[in-house]
Amino acid sequence: MVWQWKTGKRLRYLTIPEWEKLGVQIGFSSREHGVSDSPFESLNLGLHVGDDRDKVLENRLKWFSEWNTSPKEVVVGQQVHGTQVYWVNPEDAGRGSTCLDSAIPLVDALVTDTNVALMAFFADCVPVYFFNPVIKTIGIAHAGWKGTIGKIVQAVLDRMAQAGGKPEDCLAAIGPGIGPCCYEIDDSVAGKVRAVFGESTLIKPTKPGKYMLDLWGLNKVQLIKAGILEENISICSLCTSCNSDAFFSYRRDEGQTGRMSSWIRLNLWEAHDVKDPNS
Ligand SMILES: [Zn+2]
Repeated sequence: MVWQWKTGKRLRYLTIPEWEKLGVQIGFSSREHGVSDSPFESLNLGLHVGDDRDKVLENRLKWFSEWNTSPKEVVVGQQVHGTQVYWVNPEDAGRGSTCLDSAIPLVDALVTDTNVALMAFFADCVPVYFFNPVIKTIGIAHAGWKGTIGKIVQAVLDRMAQAGGKPEDCLAAIGPGIGPCCYEIDDSVAGKVRAVFGESTLIKPTKPGKYMLDLWGLNKVQLIKAGILEENISICSLCTSCNSDAFFSYRRDEGQTGRMSSWIRLNLWEAHDVKDPNS
């Protein structure tokens, strides 16, 4: 199951065609074809970064229309680099989709078995997507280094287990983020990562006191440890810092930049109601 660029009605974004065939919408936006000005040019979807609010909302509506949906059907979490998981119910629909105040507070992962769309924002941190086709449940996690060492992906799978989901049935996808080519960390962060993961080739020393960190690899290790099958993990391996035409990067742009959006939504109409023409 491979990530691919797709040119939609108005925007270009990344998706996994095999997941779409299984009845789930999955996407990761690029920075292209929006209306925001520098340094947010142009499809900035983050309301919290200092961009013009009306332009961000125009960009969001463009993103929603790509999925044939409205803000009322989307939910957003606050994202605080923590590890709290929130189970989204139908009454949450619309929270955070057009303003910051109504977002689900203090959560970095969203899970649902409804057809509310889950959206999160990124500019280097790693999005991890989940789809358990057996219990028809999806999730999205925001994994920077803090979420990664806090084991946010384990927290999502624990929450799905409470709903009867087995990790061996679950698909996982790791989207674009800052890669081991560009993500330099210092001794202090490296020590915290080692305290959780031990010595690892995913923390590579480069020069005195500096290391390159592989967040994709660390999250993959955790997914496998939690019981997800390796063949069910799709890694995008596109670095947000290297690909300046396609992506915003907090590190590369020294903090002044926009945000891309992850998108995941159960297509319940397709998942439940499509009749087998042969039956
Ligand atoms: Zn890179």
